[in-house]
Amino acid sequence: MDRTHQLIIVGGGPAGLSAALYASRSKLDVLLIEKAGLGGQILNAEMVENYPGFPKGVSGSELGTLMAEQATKYGLQTAFAEVQGIEIRGDEKILSTSEGQYRAKVVIIAGGSEHSKLGVPGEEKFTGKGVSYCAMCDGAFFRDQVIAVVGGGNVALNDSLFLTKFASKVKVIHRRDQLRATRILQDRAFANPKIEFLWDTVVESITGDKLVRELKLKNVKTGKASSLDVSGVFVAVGLRPNTGYLKGLLTLDEVGFISVNAQMETGVPGVFAAGDIRAGSIRQVVSAAGDGATAAIAAERYLASA
Ligand SMILES: Cc1cc2nc3c(=O)[nH]c(=O)nc-3n(C[C@H](O)[C@H](O)[C@H](O)COP(=O)(O)OP(=O)(O)OC[C@H]3O[C@@H](n4cnc5c(N)ncnc54)[C@H](O)[C@@H]3O)c2cc1C
Repeated sequence: MDRTHQLIIVGGGPAGLSAALYASRSKLDVLLIEKAGLGGQILNAEMVENYPGFPKGVSGSELGTLMAEQATKYGLQTAFAEVQGIEIRGDEKILSTSEGQYRAKVVIIAGGSEHSKLGVPGEEKFTGKGVSYCAMCDGAFFRDQVIAVVGGGNVALNDSLFLTKFASKVKVIHRRDQLRATRILQDRAFANPKIEFLWDTVVESITGDKLVRELKLKNVKTGKASSLDVSGVFVAVGLRPNTGYLKGLLTLDEVGFISVNAQMETGVPGVFAAGDIRAGSIRQVVSAAGDGATAAIAAERYLASA
């Protein structure tokens, strides 16, 4: 086991890197543990046009890499491992990872969340080239085009309504004949002339050339195959926060996101959560970075008062 760090940050996405930047510039002894690559899920974004400071936009991989470069400039220590459990022992937090145990006085959990995938041919190939999991991020790229949204819950309908600002037509593909979304969203969607529903339908594959051009569909009741010409498809079939190992330790909402207060404090003293992993996040880079800064400042105050 390593020595006891003042602060351990779990996750090296925008939230974790922003927390790391603030904490290491405050000269705290900080270790950041990341299971994949520094930068987080924004590394997968083709182009980010809504993060302040980049009027021409910036590729996600450049933004994530720049964030990592800035965060590691002030003495941040990093370890590449997957955190698998956290135990509270007195005023210490023991983190079990794939590479052994680490100890800290304070932990900031910034592990983000993952979008559920359709798991069909073409989905991975065309991600960032017409396949998107974030209407707010990518909607503006589809001005006057016909696009599809897959899903039938609140996120799918919210996304569809938002996307009508840009697209000429939004085709909502849902595998059932009824929606799970709230009645008010359903009423708005049914009343919107740009939105059309394809019921009892699943996507079988996504095809195109350099960009998405067509969806192959199947009606689950009749078995009939069809195709749909679209230039984009927004997948809204669920979001899984990376909190499986935190059940029983922290208060999670019904989906599994971590409940925090305005200082990013969880119910456990000395354990904070920031970014997409927390309940109520708008799940954007700018909010993740803000949460990370808030959590780091709150963590520093906690350490000073402990
Ligand atoms: C394709 C795509 C395009 C996007 N476009 C935009 C955009 O244009 N604008 C915008 O604002 N947002 C965009 N987003 C959303 C944005 O990427 C997220 O809101 C942001 O990355 C959240 O930051 P985070 O630090 O909270 O989480 P993440 O970026 O998800 O980072 C979490 C990190 O924690 C690590 N981790 C998770 N669990 C563990 C564990 N147990 N142990 C160790 N490490 C762990 C993960 O490997 C990951 O690196 C996009 C997302 C995607 C996927």
